[in-house]
Amino acid sequence: MIQDRIYNSQMECMDPEVRRKLQGERLRATVALEYANVPLYRERMDKAGIKPEDIHSMDDLKYLPFTEKTDLRDEFPFGLLAAPKDQIVRIQGSSGTTGKPIVSGYTENDVEVWTEMVARSLSAAGCTQDDIVQVCYGYGLFTGGLGAHQGASRLGAMTVPMSSGNTQRQIMMMRDLGSTILCCTPSYATYLGETIREMGLVPGKDIKLKSGVFGAEPWSEEMRVRIEELLGIDAIDIYGLTEIAGPGVAFECIAKHGMHVNEDHVIAEIIDPKTGEQLPYGTPGELVFTTITKTGQPMLRYRTHDICTLYNDPCPCGRTTVRMGRITGRTDDMLIIRGVNVFPSQIESVLVGINGVAPHYMLVVDRVNSSDTLEVKVELTEEMFSSDTVSHIEGISRQISEQIKSVVGIAAKVSLVPPKSIPRSEGKAKRIIDNRKI
Ligand code: AMP
Ligand code: ZN
Repeated sequence: MIQDRIYNSQMECMDPEVRRKLQGERLRATVALEYANVPLYRERMDKAGIKPEDIHSMDDLKYLPFTEKTDLRDEFPFGLLAAPKDQIVRIQGSSGTTGKPIVSGYTENDVEVWTEMVARSLSAAGCTQDDIVQVCYGYGLFTGGLGAHQGASRLGAMTVPMSSGNTQRQIMMMRDLGSTILCCTPSYATYLGETIREMGLVPGKDIKLKSGVFGAEPWSEEMRVRIEELLGIDAIDIYGLTEIAGPGVAFECIAKHGMHVNEDHVIAEIIDPKTGEQLPYGTPGELVFTTITKTGQPMLRYRTHDICTLYNDPCPCGRTTVRMGRITGRTDDMLIIRGVNVFPSQIESVLVGINGVAPHYMLVVDRVNSSDTLEVKVELTEEMFSSDTVSHIEGISRQISEQIKSVVGIAAKVSLVPPKSIPRSEGKAKRIIDNRKI
């Protein structure tokens, strides 16, 4: 078994009462910063009749307004910055609900905070300077690659920036370098494991991995067991989102029962998604985060739309932070396909711009060989259907898949279907069939 190392015991094992006080102080400073520098927050607080001076402690958190992904879209790209643009040293991004990504600006301080959070996470998975960390998350706007890279480098580990894809090359490097820690999505870890087994390679002999830090998409205990068996490792969960920092917002320790939230940097709440009321520990609901140390694009009460439960019972590892259980669903229609956030509205925004198809579509998601697949079924218009221009129809199909690739960032199979063949529903249209068993 790997050895769990506490990277920053002063913060991670702090008396919860003392931490709550610290959170209150940091919250106050963040609210003052937002009110002074971000018009959206100032307007919302004014509307709610709250002044920064009204926020004294954590007990006042519940009075603050929420932030939504649509706010990041509406204020794209720099409207939510609380720092001058010349202090922003990094932009990371993720899918928005329509064509444009949402972006977050990081100051040097924010990159440092994020790096510390990932360093804590990798430490908990046993990482030290003796390790060789193979990062197969994508490098780019997506926070996975650079986030894991920064954390591993901070620990002094030999960091291998493989980025995603090219499985044969990943395995070759894993063997030749003797990589000991793997960072990627859980579905890709499964695929790597299956391929390694098919190649007749033996974990422990040909493959030296001892642990893996997996996140960016939902996974289950069954999947954990499978990955651990395939690769002969401890499989550890890590959670994060671009709006808050990236991976490392919360991470599992070796006890593997819930992810420790880095509470000196972020405040986690669970709310009732319908009423917005705070819910007690142990009750499932929507996860909401407030950043309390960021200066570039801090967030007040950001609604993740992820559903989970927070626990504050003691953990055997000695950390005293609250833990979040697995993400069990979403309160909106966001799908995560091959680690990429996909909203049906993004697909719709592509389809409305294309002649010859009707705005009736269905997304069929599946998992084949541990990899997600997306099929977009779209109805042709009567006019297009009755014309016999096959090549024209093929052109439409190609156009749709190219645009989906450029807007959403993933490849999709496009199936053009006859008019009125997609079932109509009387209530809210059912646009997603998700056949994946996670
Ligand atoms: P992004 O900002 O593109 O990295 O996406 C963040 C979203 O990915 C989160 O809001 C979650 O829905 C999902 N996510 C990230 N990490 C995990 C995890 N460990 N388990 C389940 N879902 C995750
Ligand atoms: Zn623990």
